[in-house]
Amino acid sequence: MRNTNEMELIFDSRSANERFARVAVAAFMTQLNPTVEEVSDVKTAVSEAVTNAIIHGYEQEVHKVSMHCRIDGDLLFVTIKDTGKGIADVAQAMMPMYTSKPEADRSGMGFSFMEAFMDKVMVESAPGQGTSVFMEKRIGKGRSLWTTQSL
Ligand code: ATP
Ligand code: MG
Repeated sequence: MRNTNEMELIFDSRSANERFARVAVAAFMTQLNPTVEEVSDVKTAVSEAVTNAIIHGYEQEVHKVSMHCRIDGDLLFVTIKDTGKGIADVAQAMMPMYTSKPEADRSGMGFSFMEAFMDKVMVESAPGQGTSVFMEKRIGKGRSLWTTQSL
């Protein structure tokens, strides 16, 4: 039988939930028997996306953020979605060091981290409607490489 599993969480856009989302995705992906580094990569990417929803999407107002996670074989798919203000120019927003909040000490590296730590990152957004960040990562790559090299 194919190894599939799915879950969705909906939580308030409060900063306490950045940590909650990180821990939840880490717990969900343990069934893939990930390495410590893989867990840490996914947690970082999820953190960045959830923080963006809270501070940019909703600009600190409290609304709902959803995190949808799916496993299919050794692939992990995570979608973080808000229905906040949206992004007018996604390509620009995803450029390293672009931030619309330089005054808030943002470095503009959130999307770059997501792209570095996940295999794929895709953003769908519309001004006034919200933003969905789709991410994908194959789990177990590092481990099989290590096994091969150590033989
Ligand atoms: P950092 O993540 O380094 O603290 P940052 O959040 O500004 O800084 P990115 O995470 O790369 O950098 O995001 C780049 C820009 O994309 C943001 O400054 C913001 O303008 C826009 N953005 C990102 N996510 C959202 C979102 N969910 N809703 C609205 N705008 C967003
Ligand atoms: Mg960010």
